[in-house]
Amino acid sequence: MSEHKIWCGVCEATCGLVATVEDDRVVKVRPDDSHPNSEGFACPKGILYPKILEDPDRVLAPQRRRADGTFEPVSWDEALDDVGRRLNAVIAEHGRESVGVTLGNPTGWNYGAFFLTFGMAAALGTKHFFSAGSVDINNYWVVGQLLYGHNLTNPVPDFDRTDFLLVLGANPVVSHGSMVTVGNVRRRMNDIVGRGGRIVVVDPRRTETAELYEHVPVRPDSDAWLLAGMLRTIFDEGLEHRAMLAHQATGVDALRAMVADLDLDHAAAETGIPRATIEQLARDLAAAPSACVYGRCGASLSRFSTLTKYLIDALNIVTGNLDRPGGMVFPMPFLDAEAFTKLFRINGYDRWRTRVDGIPEVLGTSPLACLPREAETPGPGQLRAMIAVSTNMATTSPASNDMERALAGLDLFVSLDPYITETNRHADYVLPPKMLLEREGFPLFGQLHYTIPNASWTEAIVPPRGDVRDDWWVIDQICKRIGIVPSPAPGAQLLGRLGVRVPPSLAVDLFMRIGRYGDLFGLRRRGLSRRKLLRHDGAIKLEDGLETGVLRRKLHTKDKRVHLGDPLFAREMERMRTTPTADAEHPLRLFTIRELRSQNSWLHNVPKLMAGGRGCRLRIHPDDARERGIEDGSTVAVASRWGRIEVEARVTDEVMPGSVGLNQHWGHKGGWRTAVAAGGARYNDLVPGDAATIDVASGNAWMNGIGVEVVPVAAPAPADAAALTA
Ligand code: SF4
Repeated sequence: MSEHKIWCGVCEATCGLVATVEDDRVVKVRPDDSHPNSEGFACPKGILYPKILEDPDRVLAPQRRRADGTFEPVSWDEALDDVGRRLNAVIAEHGRESVGVTLGNPTGWNYGAFFLTFGMAAALGTKHFFSAGSVDINNYWVVGQLLYGHNLTNPVPDFDRTDFLLVLGANPVVSHGSMVTVGNVRRRMNDIVGRGGRIVVVDPRRTETAELYEHVPVRPDSDAWLLAGMLRTIFDEGLEHRAMLAHQATGVDALRAMVADLDLDHAAAETGIPRATIEQLARDLAAAPSACVYGRCGASLSRFSTLTKYLIDALNIVTGNLDRPGGMVFPMPFLDAEAFTKLFRINGYDRWRTRVDGIPEVLGTSPLACLPREAETPGPGQLRAMIAVSTNMATTSPASNDMERALAGLDLFVSLDPYITETNRHADYVLPPKMLLEREGFPLFGQLHYTIPNASWTEAIVPPRGDVRDDWWVIDQICKRIGIVPSPAPGAQLLGRLGVRVPPSLAVDLFMRIGRYGDLFGLRRRGLSRRKLLRHDGAIKLEDGLETGVLRRKLHTKDKRVHLGDPLFAREMERMRTTPTADAEHPLRLFTIRELRSQNSWLHNVPKLMAGGRGCRLRIHPDDARERGIEDGSTVAVASRWGRIEVEARVTDEVMPGSVGLNQHWGHKGGWRTAVAAGGARYNDLVPGDAATIDVASGNAWMNGIGVEVVPVAAPAPADAAALTA
């Protein structure tokens, strides 16, 4: 029996854990009290993650789809050779640009898969590079590029010092933080109140977080109206921090002009928040000794999510809360992804546009929402083949039915994934990867946003099950068979042509060692290297907190100022102000609900995580339910302009009148039996994916605030019911 300090690769909190291994199995997981960031916290997902390794439904050898839709195991050579042969045929006829790659969320904790997928897209020169970021993060990457000069520049709340935290569309007590890596977030938020500060949660639902602090109910998809109203109040009343603005930013006049004639009564009507509350929130934010405005998925799934993120950052800057203690501060990762992506010209925005919809690229990627039209619209550059890595895009992308149809129609679809999911049912090959704990790794995405900078790199602690392989090895093998080197680096390309492949661990180690915390190959005695981290038991704390006064160092803009005046934002503001929001046929606004025991869809086959009466239920306010004759526990039909599903209704005043909330990523199909047995319906069947309805600036999906109507589903007549049960 042995114990190992590991990190959790399920969500962005990236908690430290201790795993007990016996007979090559993880028999127990507990929180790591010594981890600098999570300090002994962990949630059920992290504790139960090892169940996936032993899941009887896990794919343990390459699978080939037969003509009848079932799968048969084949050898790696057979699978890879056939994939290579078919890809070469597609390329010969339609060019490399007809091959696509898709990067799913779990690759954020799988650096080898992440870098080689990026490398494969670069080597193919394809615009069909789709990323899970286009569901709810691309707006961050756009605002990062336009305000700070780099997509990945993203200030995070200084939880440990702030006096006022304004939270929009986030439920950190359940999500444990996103786009900020803050371990034990509940303790840290309680401390804000404990030291006399305030937390205000703006959300259509009285969430688990809103229950604990001050709650301001807001209509789904209206955060931008609230933020713009607050900015107008601040400018009107002269509450902006002029000295900080003069020092830090340009484009302030453009921002002021954007909100100058905003009608606060109209903002109140759009948000459902009284005008006096909007104005008071603005005054309180400006008056707080330090403050942070933090928005996450709820705000990023809105129709104008780039504008929303811009206004969040603008509020922080205008109130003098950027780069100061207790405000929004800049993370200091041990692998400097900003420098890395800049070196290889990966970062950027709107350098080209998607073929069919003309949506701007973000970080060299296209939005998932565009994939179906790229695959189904004939012409040069049509998407014909897809290599997908760790993604269940049939469930997580907008317009799920369109996505399934498009995937089914491809000439070749290859998926690197541990399950036969509703997505992979359409794959020609499902190629099974090693999972975390079966492979070495470091928390690539988590380290980008640590509030307590720390570093870890861990070895595999159990042998891989069956005949699974590292994703990066699989990608490299496919690339070899089509004659490309999966890297954006000219040096790696040259070596590759000479037959030398640079493993991702070596490339990352080299970059880390010359970075801020690196050992400079021995010149900095206490510096980091992969070897040192692998030998260290647990994480190494690098700082006690995040430094302030670093703005000039962190900015990538030439003038070292934050650019608030990009004309894109004024255009988006105008678009929002002129887009009708009323829909008489679909008067209720639908929004997503986060669940403690789900991480998107990929843990839904762990029985213990699905136990305890969990279900896919629509929360509807008693007034709205009464008006429609809906009873608690009954089946209802939810219809939007784009789809219809049936789910169970839960009548509750936790949601505000006029809005309905539904948990996402249910209604599974395929060979993961626990997930399928959980039932429910797919939220994203209701969601539009066309170019007119996504956030056109970033390609983010529009999932929160879409109009729906809800009606009872008539129970079957007794005779029909008897027939159904016969
Ligand atoms: S909060 Fe996230 S990182 Fe921490 S244990 Fe749970 S799933 Fe893992």
